[in-house]
Amino acid sequence: MTAKLIDGKMIAAELRGKVADAVHRMARDRGIVPGLAVVLVGDNPASKIYVGSKKKMTVAGGMRSYDHSLPEHTSEAELLKLIGRLNTDPTVNGILVQLPLPKHIDSQKVLSAIDPNKDVDGFHPVNVGRLATGLPALVPCTPLGCIYLAKTVQPSLEGLDAVVVGRSNIVGKPLIQLLLQENATVTVAHSKTQDLPDVCKRADILFAAIGRPETIRGHWIKPGAVVIDVGINRVAADGKTKIVGDVAFTEASAVAGAITPVPGGVGPMTIACLLLNTLKAACMTAGLPAPEI
Ligand code: NAP
Repeated sequence: MTAKLIDGKMIAAELRGKVADAVHRMARDRGIVPGLAVVLVGDNPASKIYVGSKKKMTVAGGMRSYDHSLPEHTSEAELLKLIGRLNTDPTVNGILVQLPLPKHIDSQKVLSAIDPNKDVDGFHPVNVGRLATGLPALVPCTPLGCIYLAKTVQPSLEGLDAVVVGRSNIVGKPLIQLLLQENATVTVAHSKTQDLPDVCKRADILFAAIGRPETIRGHWIKPGAVVIDVGINRVAADGKTKIVGDVAFTEASAVAGAITPVPGGVGPMTIACLLLNTLKAACMTAGLPAPEI
């Protein structure tokens, strides 16, 4: 079997297009232009690249982008003061604080200071709780993107055996909640799981969010399964670096029914879902129904 490739780049571009259309209608009919504030502290090169793409795509989607790049030595108090200002700024619908923050700043304290209605990353404890209890919530972008991709090849996840490898707060745990909402039967695996290959082999749909290159091998995959690879790992190859996922792609695509590539799978969906969350937050503030996208 050769797996169908789930083209995250193309699917993300389509989603960004739908968000841009809804933003255009909102501006035309209501005079509201959603705004996203992105806060970056320090000079982490990878963070700078992510933030740059987020800003570019926010503007391309017809929204306003507010850039707050702060020096590495910014104090926690200064950062909290900025968050307080953004919370009350009516032109800002979404606030994103790029992680990781410098070590002298308590990330959880900063994330918890964001107004939950502007928490487009979905990391605020209120949104975490709302998601877990099935209430409407702003949901973390990467897991949201994973479900969106999975449903392009498997429109109903009801009754399927879903296995999530990884239980981080930003990917694994919210993914579990979203899968339960889809009525999948969910198993979660982590670094202490025994016989991981056997657990993976049960999956009709397998999500890998481990952060270890090519950990999931082809023979761990049930023939025909859908495989969503969240991992982004930089590895050395022929004197250069390349990016690979948590799944051994070539082996896995000989067995799976459908699979996301790395790069070009889940990665592009994260920013597209960030734009969707900003639009949702703007609708919420304006008392409008959530966009049907
Ligand atoms: P993380 O916080 O480091 O969590 C990794 C999880 O994998 C943990 O739950 C850990 O188990 C589990 N794990 C580690 N080694 C394992 C093993 N050998 N077998 C089974 N489970 C194992 O990572 P994360 O933030 O969730 O990110 C995971 C990957 O996704 C990374 O490569 C990251 O770069 C990528 N990512 C991509 C995007 C995107 O936009 N595409 C967004 C976010 C993250 P324990 O809990 O027991 O330690």
